[in-house]
Amino acid sequence: MRQPILREKEFKQKKGLTYGKYYPTQGVVQIDPRQPERDRFDTTIHEIIHHFEEEFGVDIGEERVVEMAKVLTKAMFDGEGYRRVK
Ligand SMILES: [Zn+2]
Repeated sequence: MRQPILREKEFKQKKGLTYGKYYPTQGVVQIDPRQPERDRFDTTIHEIIHHFEEEFGVDIGEERVVEMAKVLTKAMFDGEGYRRVK
């Protein structure tokens, strides 16, 4: 299992708003820093779940990825109060 590589990048926002991207070949997660902390938490988890999909060779579908990130964010960010150290 590769460790995902997390990087910050300000995306050009065109049509839909994009705050995170995953590049499976390199295992790179890009996060746009211009989002509230809670959104950033959700986005980061979301993209890491895509990394799991890649590493395990499964496709659980975008809806499930969204749901998993939502549940984890609620449990960890809202429930346990996890925050980034700056
Ligand atoms: Zn996604």
